[in-house]
Amino acid sequence: MSESHFSPQHFVIRGADVIDGTGSARFSADVVVADDLISKITPPGQGKARDVVDATGLVLCPGFIDTHTHDDRLLLQTRQPHPKLTQGVCTVVTGNCGISLAPLVTTTPPAPLDLLGADAFVYKTFREYLAALDDSQPCINVVPLIGHITLRVRHVTDLHRTATAAEISAMASELIQALDAGAFGLSTGVYYPPAKAASTDELLGVCAALKGRGAMLAMHLRDEGDNIDAALKEALDVGAASEASLVISHHKVVGPQNHGRTRHTLQTIEQAALAQSVCLDCYPYEASSTMLNAEKASHTQEVLITWSQPHPEYSGKSLKSIAQVWGLSLLEAAQRLMPGGAIYFAMAAQDVERVLQHPLTMIGSDGLPHDRRPHPRLWGTFPRVLGHYSRDRKLLSLETAIHKMTGLPAKRFGLAGRGIIATGHHADLVLLDPAQVRDNASYEAPERPCTGIHAVYVNGQLAMWRGEQLASHAGRRLIPSRTP
Ligand SMILES: [Zn+2]
Repeated sequence: MSESHFSPQHFVIRGADVIDGTGSARFSADVVVADDLISKITPPGQGKARDVVDATGLVLCPGFIDTHTHDDRLLLQTRQPHPKLTQGVCTVVTGNCGISLAPLVTTTPPAPLDLLGADAFVYKTFREYLAALDDSQPCINVVPLIGHITLRVRHVTDLHRTATAAEISAMASELIQALDAGAFGLSTGVYYPPAKAASTDELLGVCAALKGRGAMLAMHLRDEGDNIDAALKEALDVGAASEASLVISHHKVVGPQNHGRTRHTLQTIEQAALAQSVCLDCYPYEASSTMLNAEKASHTQEVLITWSQPHPEYSGKSLKSIAQVWGLSLLEAAQRLMPGGAIYFAMAAQDVERVLQHPLTMIGSDGLPHDRRPHPRLWGTFPRVLGHYSRDRKLLSLETAIHKMTGLPAKRFGLAGRGIIATGHHADLVLLDPAQVRDNASYEAPERPCTGIHAVYVNGQLAMWRGEQLASHAGRRLIPSRTP
């Protein structure tokens, strides 16, 4: 891509406590940046450069990697302030939960593809989407995945049945084309209506294309409730057979009858990790958010509507209050609000904390940037882990929290030269105030930017300074290194 948006850089960040992303304890150092790279790390006071940034009292760490996003379309837009950049996120993994913007041309994407908006499905091939991404020069780096639901909607003529052998081979060959074009791997979401009918054999058939390619496989489990054990087993089996590096998406258990079951699911994953590559991502909230499903909504204690196509005026209102106004049952009210999106309060705090603390867990926001009243995780995930869970609740050290957002995902996704502060690495950097960092986005005010993130550098360019967005095109589409 064109480097025209990159201006030459030569500066030293002086006096910060460096948390390098490996999980090791912080140390005092000066970090010198030349153009887009970290050129030198010196003892405090010894770093020399044209410009000096005084970072006394602040922590310097690698730019955060949001391992679970639905930012496929957001990256093509210029948004200020940017929900990810404000949090210190320098890199996003797109195309999760089986949902990718390409390859699909349609004006009527079925839910949940419509979470990306109805008018954005214009790319016939994954390569075309990647070219559009390069042309738009996003403000942060991108690690693109291709979605199984998107492939299914494109190639399977009847979504209510499992794919035929011919359809599986069409999906697999399109997946190979996407990997060749620059996709890091595949995501699946057999929980969702357009993919629910996909059998394990269909998944095995499509995922066979990942074999021998050092690819990623991110799986949203078929069931995160009563049948989570079987769903987890299916994901682990498909991951093992495809020899891909498996990520269990937004790991959680829902429904009061299942609270506490993460004790067992985490053990199962640990056991599997002895024989295969598997890790998890997680967002730091007790409520989930996705498409509005009337059945699920009517069985959940508390539900907030994030958007509704027929009734946009009810965004941000609880399903209970809407049902009361209409004089309908919860099920009927939810049906009347569809298509739409919702926030479901169905997790236990202990499960969220247990998953967050697990050494195999990375941080992924799962934010939905096109929802009218999004879940606060879109604007608050990273500062919430650093402020609420690390500093205030002392659930994990700042070093560990940062490792889960930087060094760990960089290693898992094979992002060479990123995720760790080291000489010769890319200068994706965050300066933050450990005493002040906190999320301000809430269910009532979901788009309130966080505090405590002082500066964000993307590829050496100052992209955000005290909440003000500066460089809007400093990101790059990252290229898979493909070492199986
Ligand atoms: Zn998902």
